[in-house]
This record gives sequence, C-alpha cells and structure tokens, in this order.
Amino acid sequence: MAQTLVESANAHINKNILEKFMELPMPDGVIQATYIWIDGTDENVRCKDRTLNYIPTSPNELPIWNYDGSSTYQADGSNSDVYLYPVRIYKDPFRRGNNILVLCETYRFDKTPTESNKRKECLETCNKCADEEPWFGIEQEYTLLDVDGRPLGWPRNGFPGPQGPYYCGVGANKVTARDIVEAHYRACLYAGVKICGTNAEVMPAQWEYQVGPCVGIEIGDDLWVSRFLLHRIAEEFGVVATLDPKPMEGDWNGAGAHTNVSTKTMREDNGIVEIQKAIKKLSQHHDRHIRAYDPRGGKDNERRLTGKHETSSIHDFSAGVANRGSSIRIPRGVSDDGKGYFEDRRPSSNCDPYSVVNAILNTICLE
Ligand code: ADP
Ligand code: MN
Ligand code: MN
Ligand code: MN
Ligand code: MN
Repeated sequence: MAQTLVESANAHINKNILEKFMELPMPDGVIQATYIWIDGTDENVRCKDRTLNYIPTSPNELPIWNYDGSSTYQADGSNSDVYLYPVRIYKDPFRRGNNILVLCETYRFDKTPTESNKRKECLETCNKCADEEPWFGIEQEYTLLDVDGRPLGWPRNGFPGPQGPYYCGVGANKVTARDIVEAHYRACLYAGVKICGTNAEVMPAQWEYQVGPCVGIEIGDDLWVSRFLLHRIAEEFGVVATLDPKPMEGDWNGAGAHTNVSTKTMREDNGIVEIQKAIKKLSQHHDRHIRAYDPRGGKDNERRLTGKHETSSIHDFSAGVANRGSSIRIPRGVSDDGKGYFEDRRPSSNCDPYSVVNAILNTICLE
C-alpha cells in the first residue's frame, strides 16, 4: 500500500510558522469565537469567526449573528440573511485559552427554523420525555480520503487485500493516519465533547469513534461538534474525512452511526422487559425511522443497508441478541444482565442525530 499522497496545499503549508503567531499574547479580555452551524445539505458544517470583548459563561450571553444563507443552500439571494442562535459553548482546541467554539441553531428572517434546523423540534421532544431520562451513545463511522477522493492509503491502481485484518488493526499495512484519530480524540476531550472511545474499522481507511452516553439533546450537540473537529483536523493534515455511508461499492463495509439507547426503566433491574416493549414499537414504524435516518429520506441508506456487510436489509425490521445483521441489536451483556440498552444499527453515518433522536423518542416514549 506504499503510496505518495496526492498533493494537498493544506498539508504542505508549514505549520511551524503558524505557531509563532498563535503564541502572540492577546489583548486583555479579548477572545475569539468560532460560530458553527449545519448548512442546507443537512450534512455539512460551516463556521465563521468573531472577536468578543468578554468571556461568556452561557450561550445566552453570546450575540445572535447571521450569515449569507444563499451561499449555504439555505436562502435566496434577495433575502439571504439567516440568523445564528448560539445554543452551546465548547472550548477551542485550536486556539486554546479562553477561546471558544459556539454551536448554533439556524433561523430564517421571520424567526422560523430553517429546513436544516432539526434541533429545535428534537429539543421539544427531549423535554417532553425528560422524566424517562433517555441516554444516547452514537458510534460515528467515517472514512479518510485523499483529496482526489480515493480512500487514504489505497493503491492508486487496484485495491487493498480483502477485509479481515483491518478492524481494530495495528501496523502500517493495516491502518492509515492514526495521527488524525489521535488528534481528534484529544481535541474532543479538550473541547468538552463526551467522546468515549475509538477503533479502526473493517474497511481500510475507515475509523469509528463513540460519543456518549449523553442525556437527551446533548448527544446531537456533541456529535455535531465532534464532526466539526474531525473535518477541521483532517483539513490541517490535507486529508478529507467523509461521512458517506457507502464510500466504496463492492465487497467493502459501509459506514453507519449505530445509536445506542436507554431509558431510566431500561437501566433498572429487569429493564429488558422495557427494551422488548420499545423494540415492539420500533417494529411498527420502520419506514418512518428509515426516512429520518439519513439526510435524503432513506436514499443514502439504500446503498448501505443491503443485508450484507453487517447490515440488515432496508426493507425489513428485525431484532436480535448479539446479531449484527439485524436492525436492532441487544448486546450480549445486556441480555445476560436483564437490563441496560439497545442498539439501533440503521442510522447512516451522515445522519442528523437530532432527527434520529427525535424519531426514537417519539416512538418509544410518546406513543
Ligand atoms: P459496539 O459493540 O456496537 O461496537 P461500541 O462500544 O462501539 O459498541 O459503542 C457503544 C456505545 O453505547 C457508546 O457510544 C456508549 O456511550 C453507548 N452506551 C453505553 N451504555 C449506554 C446506555 N446505558 N444507554 C445508552 N447508550 C449507552
Ligand atoms: Mn461579506
Ligand atoms: Mn462500535
Ligand atoms: Mn463500527
Ligand atoms: Mn455498534
């Protein structure tokens, strides 16, 4: 797999020169804030920066801002301003110090949520279910690509050896660019994202990290910021991180965002009964869930949920203990303990976690 990387301007910029400027002292009380939001693709993040003359301690101390929505597939040029409402503050692992990342919701000129603002409704649903104390953990799978779109480290003429040695692999012939994975893991911890683990995946150049368990809306916020950090760190290395659910056709695993779920009752003794009840309800709304589990209403998952490569068919609902070919998996340990959580394996890697959480809570808590 020895290959030279495709030239990426970003990777060739000398980062040591930047260090000289990042060490410059800042004027007293002045910080930099990066506002982050989801664009009109429902999949990609955007950001822009501003100076603040104070250190905010909560999002409502931050200014509402705006941007040109006609350049993000979110508004017409003639009425282009979209509002940014700060909703959560994270520490900035790039600039450090008191500098911050600010996750935002997006609103139209008339103060209604944009199409891509799925957070508002999700938060309302989470609030209705607060008594159940729902926890979520999401396994984010992704693939590293060269800037020309080829999986990183794959031979330019041909393919790597078949899947088998790569999952949780160690060694230069098994995994690619662990540097990015390490940098991202640390950056998430520093920022305040509840990242709980990481591993190399089945397809070479594919990786996973897990976020959680998070209470309610926090899973969506942390996952979106973890994705921002992933793209932003990969950018520095001159590498592209894609969340496409099936980056390579053929005998290669796709990428998902397995969503692990529990309520208070499920976590208590004999919670397995409640898990079974939830699965029964989920079985009655398979189509509605598939529509909510990727940004294109199921189109993206059609490529991934084939019934092969550790997936279930997009057309069928199934559940099983330790079964990675089913829609819902009850982990073996949960079955043994008679309590815990279940795993919904259907959400695609590029899903909006706000839509996923909203669908799950509507089905299991509000029906
Ligand atoms: P897998 O065996 O499917 O690869 P992982 O170890 O990658 O599982 O991920 C497990 C996920 O389950 C993590 O995101 C973790 O936060 C989450 N999780 C663990 N316990 C709970 C729970 N009680 N409720 C919800 N999520 C949980
Ligand atoms: Mn301008
Ligand atoms: Mn996993
Ligand atoms: Mn995985
Ligand atoms: Mn899983």
